[in-house]
Amino acid sequence: MTQDQNPKKTKPESAEGDPPGFPTASGFPLVRSLDLGAFRVHAIEAGLQRLDGGAMFGVVPRPLWERRIAPDARNRIPLALRCLLVEAPEALILVDTGVGNKGDDQFRRIYGIENEGDPAEGAPTRLELGIREAGHEPSDIDIVLMTHLHFDHAGGGTTRRDDGEIVPSFPGARYVVHEEEFRFAGSPNERIRASYLSENLEPISRYNLWDFVGTDAEITGGLRLVHTPGHTPHHHSVLLESGGERACFLADLCPTTAHLPLPWIMGYDLEPLVTLESKRETWERALHEDWLLIFEHDPVIAWGRLAEDRRSLRGE
Ligand SMILES: [Zn+2]
Repeated sequence: MTQDQNPKKTKPESAEGDPPGFPTASGFPLVRSLDLGAFRVHAIEAGLQRLDGGAMFGVVPRPLWERRIAPDARNRIPLALRCLLVEAPEALILVDTGVGNKGDDQFRRIYGIENEGDPAEGAPTRLELGIREAGHEPSDIDIVLMTHLHFDHAGGGTTRRDDGEIVPSFPGARYVVHEEEFRFAGSPNERIRASYLSENLEPISRYNLWDFVGTDAEITGGLRLVHTPGHTPHHHSVLLESGGERACFLADLCPTTAHLPLPWIMGYDLEPLVTLESKRETWERALHEDWLLIFEHDPVIAWGRLAEDRRSLRGE
């Protein structure tokens, strides 16, 4: 496998209240690419969000997690909105879509979102800029595959136009999601409704672009959903297999490299003990089949391979 190197931590200019070295959206390459068998894979940095550090680490005490990812003055940690663009022989597939451009100022402030693109050039967010840098147009995408429908994964699937109308960002694509995750998102209760926003789902229904699939569905040759429940009951990771090589886009099974140890589980997870078993099972396969693990939210590291200790990356 050939791949570009993960960059070392850069030193972007700090905003007020940020600790030194705090990542910014522009502090990293927009696109990092690698070949995996017949696939060409691009990790696109579709921006950053900032979420409460305590919520991101559940029962892990701050003195432990702050050594891994330093919080800002408001106790928030920076998290990437990394999406995966996969050039497969039969299709161009985008896995997850970041947070999009529909949030108002208050939403963007609360979640510390930095993802502005170049609207005048038809790129509402960094996602569209990244797709172009990888050599494609948003209209080229055949399949938008969602690991789950939380706003920081499904938000970029739709775009608010200048006239205020919300439309699919990828009108030439089918939007693929697990049927039970879609059902779950459509009947939210008080605990989960802040994460599932109808503005991310309804326009895609209106344009009749959804395709619903079952567990472990193969989306295109060698690219399939893998059920990794816990974060949500129907959360899925994405496994790519080609030419004897394997990579797994973990999504919220393990958002950052700091979450590799089994009990380091987000407070957001609906069933943390289920997450624990999903991780245990995934790490065994990852180790024995030498998976490349791809992290959606790690603010610095896009990918790596699991070390024997099952709690860090090789070479870390
Ligand atoms: Zn999520």
